[in-house]
Amino acid sequence: MDLEINDVKFKCPTCSKIQQWQDNCQLCGSDVSILHNLAIKYKKLQKLLRINLRNGNFIAAYNIAQQITNIAPTKLNKKIKQFIKTKLFLNSKYKIQNSELSTD
Ligand SMILES: [Zn+2]
Repeated sequence: MDLEINDVKFKCPTCSKIQQWQDNCQLCGSDVSILHNLAIKYKKLQKLLRINLRNGNFIAAYNIAQQITNIAPTKLNKKIKQFIKTKLFLNSKYKIQNSELSTD
């Protein structure tokens, strides 16, 4: 079962108070709705990435990994994107080799 974003605590970028997701910070009142929406989008993209990887849709997975890396350029996200890129490259090499074999 996936963890919902509303169950995860976050740190207010203004005052650093750790709290549950809300549209406004409980301590300083900063509007964090944009951050909340971005976190929801990030979680949805991660779920979509897993589905596409599981189904072998590596082109779609690469595009999603690109979006994830744009939101959060962490080492792990960059490694995942690179892994998918390598997988796409190897798949294209494999297809070229197979098509060369079939024409002989
Ligand atoms: Zn705050």
